[in-house]
Amino acid sequence: MSNIEQTLSIIKPDAVERNLQEEIKNEFNKNGFRIAKEKKIHISKDEAEQFYKVHQSKPFYNDLCEYLSSGPIVVMALEKENAVLDNRKLMGATNPKDADEGTLRKKYGISIDKNSVHGSDSVENANIEIDFFFKG
Ligand code: UDP
Ligand code: MG
Repeated sequence: MSNIEQTLSIIKPDAVERNLQEEIKNEFNKNGFRIAKEKKIHISKDEAEQFYKVHQSKPFYNDLCEYLSSGPIVVMALEKENAVLDNRKLMGATNPKDADEGTLRKKYGISIDKNSVHGSDSVENANIEIDFFFKG
């Protein structure tokens, strides 16, 4: 039985700044993801705060929201079978230092905050996050 899903991916400011978006999109294509939706945007700090609301009680919340709104980002809906989990595997661990060889965060991430990519962590959150950027 097929299990086609969509997941939200963000190429974060550190990667856009280094002009890595084509290289990273190529990795998604190579790994069987179809880029169903895509736009390059520069969000406000308010929007970043809404997007990362689940982290509002964390000590890194303010810096995280400052960072995500610090420059252009590329937001995408990626589609394939098991897209949510497969994208998390392709991204690697949150801290690039802990990420496996060959993962996007290992290849491109600079630090735990500048880790180059975001990916939804569940199908439910993927739908919420895709709506956040692409609804209306
Ligand atoms: N983050 C951070 N410091 C931390 C943990 C997380 O700056 O100690 C940032 C990091 O950029 C991460 C984002 O907050 O990607 C969201 O954290 P989460 O735990 O959801 O990690 P992810 O799902 O992105 O792997
Ligand atoms: Mg997360």
